Amino acid sequence: MQYYSLNNPQHRVSFKEAVVAGLAPDRGLYFPVNIPKLDKDFIERLEEYDPLYIGKKVMEPFIEQEIPTHALAQIISETLSFPFPLREVEEHVFALELYHGPTLAFKDVGARFMAGCLGYFRKGDDRPVTVLAATSGDTGAAVAHGFYNVPGVQVVILYPSGKVSTLQEKQLTTLGGNITALEVQGTFDDCQRLVKTAFNDEDLKEACLLTSANSINVARWLPQMLYYFLAYRKLKQWHKDVVFAVPSGNFGNICAGMMAAQMGLPIHHFIAATNVNDTVPRFMQNGEYAPNPALPTLSNAMDVADPSNFVRILQIFAHNDQALHAQLSAYSFNDEQTVDAIERVCAAHNYLLDPHGAVGYLGLKKYLADHKKPVGVFLETAHPVKFADNMPASVQAKIDTPAKIKQLANLEKQAVLMPNDFNVFKKWLTGQSYAV
Ligand SMILES: *Cc1c(COP(=O)(O)O)cnc(C)c1O
Repeated sequence: MQYYSLNNPQHRVSFKEAVVAGLAPDRGLYFPVNIPKLDKDFIERLEEYDPLYIGKKVMEPFIEQEIPTHALAQIISETLSFPFPLREVEEHVFALELYHGPTLAFKDVGARFMAGCLGYFRKGDDRPVTVLAATSGDTGAAVAHGFYNVPGVQVVILYPSGKVSTLQEKQLTTLGGNITALEVQGTFDDCQRLVKTAFNDEDLKEACLLTSANSINVARWLPQMLYYFLAYRKLKQWHKDVVFAVPSGNFGNICAGMMAAQMGLPIHHFIAATNVNDTVPRFMQNGEYAPNPALPTLSNAMDVADPSNFVRILQIFAHNDQALHAQLSAYSFNDEQTVDAIERVCAAHNYLLDPHGAVGYLGLKKYLADHKKPVGVFLETAHPVKFADNMPASVQAKIDTPAKIKQLANLEKQAVLMPNDFNVFKKWLTGQSYAV
């Protein structure tokens, strides 16, 4: 499969090149030159197949022989190595729990798949590649765990000192091995600036092979289609009446669902649910794409004002407004509504939402109130313990802590303290033993 830059359809690359580069040289996002269609028979018989087979059928057309079937099967089985339970919270309202992976958020899926692909492409190449990732929390943890022990890949995670939760810091700093955490004396934006400057630095380009594990990478975006297939497979009795609500920040997750629908998965409608960072809901109302500065909220993994992946959604519908509105609704909710939803659902149904899942739940309920569709799914993107600090006091006692999180408390934090100074960062990077 070839991929083109959304800034220039003439610029085409292979899957491998798109994965290794992340972003096109003209800063455009990569998009497949055509969207493969699955045959009807496969969809009709979805419940007969196991997740690994479904994973191969869905992903193979996007990769073709750039990764041979047996190697791809291995990558998919590592990606789908934890469960994706569907829980009926209220009658015909289901939570798709995506938080049973190693770092308790859905980003584990994309990170593991990308790590598998990059590991495969680097095999036999004795020049190690260095993955640089700036993080405000969730991404860095998923990337660190996804790439842990992948041969030929070194990972450097930059996080802002004192600005990630204790749990997130432990997840970033306790792996060791090929993962190095840099505790930057600055903000998340400073971390991002250091990474971006590194990618544009001629000396560094000479000295080490750098790549990014950014969420716009096709190898992080596309595997997110898989859990829509796995969820639909369990709800197939409702045929074409299933709707999905997705708590959205950078819009990669929902965009993957919309790709799954384009491939032939009969999802009736998508609901994008945002916090007060509501650029897309406003765009859907008045046709104007006008980002405001990002505002901090309780669902802080979605505090994105200018979602990168939205251009991919527009591309899916060839910038046709009518087609877009037929498939997508978008609503925004504030922190007060989020807290209220967490408390209400906990009291009425004994189910604990995290702040992101709560936004998704609210989006689904709002859509269902106006549309008599029989069954809806909202994506639960993180375990409540991950955002315990943002959970209302009234439900704190209900938050359970999985064993793998309890163990973290005993592990020693290992981080390199890094001033917010590009020259110091550059010197450190070139001084690493794995720099060539
Ligand atoms: C990243 C993240 C989101 C937003 O997903 P996008 O693909 O960026 O829209 C939602 N919830 C959680 C918990 C996240 O970590």
